[in-house]
Amino acid sequence: MRIIIMGPPGVGKGTEAELLIKDFNIPHISTGNIFRELYRDKTTVGKIAKSYIDKGELVPDDITNEIVRNRLSKPDVEKGFLFDGYPRNIEQAEAFDRILDEKGWKLNAVINIQTSDELIIKRISGRRVCEDCGSIYHLENNPPEIDGVCDKCDGNLIQRDDDSQETVLRRLRIYYDQTEPVIGYYKHSGIMINADGSNAISKNHADIMKALGEMN
Ligand SMILES: [Zn+2]
Repeated sequence: MRIIIMGPPGVGKGTEAELLIKDFNIPHISTGNIFRELYRDKTTVGKIAKSYIDKGELVPDDITNEIVRNRLSKPDVEKGFLFDGYPRNIEQAEAFDRILDEKGWKLNAVINIQTSDELIIKRISGRRVCEDCGSIYHLENNPPEIDGVCDKCDGNLIQRDDDSQETVLRRLRIYYDQTEPVIGYYKHSGIMINADGSNAISKNHADIMKALGEMN
């Protein structure tokens, strides 16, 4: 099963991705996570990527495509994969097609999750992350027992640089400007699945699994 999952930041894409990789036993490939790992490992590519991500901008295509090509040379993708956060624009979508062609692979589905900007801003700007263990909280939906303190490890809860309201608005604008054409790119392929991110997680996942079943 080779899947791309798309949707603006904060739409519930990450949660849905976790459910899908469990159901299909495939690796979850998030270019955002790969960039964060590269930054933690103090690589030059990681530092360059972070400087773009912190501004709410896209990492340059040549860097991103190269990282995807490398990731697809690892053995665990033979049984399939789920891409999250890639491709982000037409140039990346075309590069991805070339990489897949070289391997003789085809995508099974492109899942597109959508919801209103208001809901997204509410979800993201309330998000807090533990500095020490990485646990995620939400001021409204999943608050910690003590303000600003992690329930699990007593670590300090912070707002990630790219979760501030100002950055979220910029990320949404970039998303709609650059990524929506990608939806157009895949629309004609007959493998698009549209999902409603305002639905409960379980309903959304059931709808997606049903659509995948009917498709393959
Ligand atoms: Zn913690």
